[in-house]
Amino acid sequence: MFLLGCHLSAAKGYTHMAEEALSIGANTFQFFTRNPRGGKAKDMDAADVARFRELAEAHRFGPILAHAPYTLNPSGADARVREFAFEVMADDMLRMEATPGNYYNFHPGSHVGQGIEKGIDLIIDLLDTILKPDQTTLVLLETMSGKGSEVGSRFEELRTIIDRVALPDKLGVCFDTCHTNDAGYDVVNDLDGVLAEFDRIVGLYRLKAIHLNDSKNPFGSHKDRHEKIGQGTLGLEAVTRVITHPLLRDLPFYLETPNEVDGYAEEIRLLRQIRPD
Ligand code: FE
Ligand code: FE
Ligand code: ZN
Repeated sequence: MFLLGCHLSAAKGYTHMAEEALSIGANTFQFFTRNPRGGKAKDMDAADVARFRELAEAHRFGPILAHAPYTLNPSGADARVREFAFEVMADDMLRMEATPGNYYNFHPGSHVGQGIEKGIDLIIDLLDTILKPDQTTLVLLETMSGKGSEVGSRFEELRTIIDRVALPDKLGVCFDTCHTNDAGYDVVNDLDGVLAEFDRIVGLYRLKAIHLNDSKNPFGSHKDRHEKIGQGTLGLEAVTRVITHPLLRDLPFYLETPNEVDGYAEEIRLLRQIRPD
């Protein structure tokens, strides 16, 4: 089954997101746990969560993907920035257990001039504090474009983090097609080669989700600006190869293209036409 969704607003709760997803042909979705710039999360509503879980089961949803706020940076130089990352992620992990067995994606961090090694050390500190043996949530490291001082634009960096955390089985990777192409992995002309490299460095068994985006910028630009499907430097043929690739097709795909719900509905229609099953 083609597990396909898009980023939705969490403002009206889980049931609303599930209904909205169904109304546009999606069978999963991504959402922010709180304002993407940070701030306090909405209180969990038990009835809303219960209704959502019924809907998700009845319609055989794929895992839903919570996205951490962009401001979460465990490798910041400022102690307050790092504390914020610990507080937000700890709170998000508790909330996630209300919808057990789903995914939580975060941008590993930006080392802000401290160097990649220091950045990685600080990300590991965070994960070793946050991850618990009994949690059901899988935490995903997102592949990044390498904009600014981002950690995680090289597969080797993700591998180092996974290798060195105490509970690596609580971690996976989310592959963002825009970021990865921007980072200098040739998703357009050599998807097989990119996946072979991912497998060699990280292991494809750790790949749990795809952020399906086109890119406004050329290969290797380290920019991170998403484009609508088929309208960017990846193009529809490359996107088609991604959604139909035998090594990827069983994963959940999440659109994060610059769209409102109508635009997502159209992209989902197009992608399901290309891949009906
Ligand atoms: Fe992201
Ligand atoms: Fe992404
Ligand atoms: Zn991005």
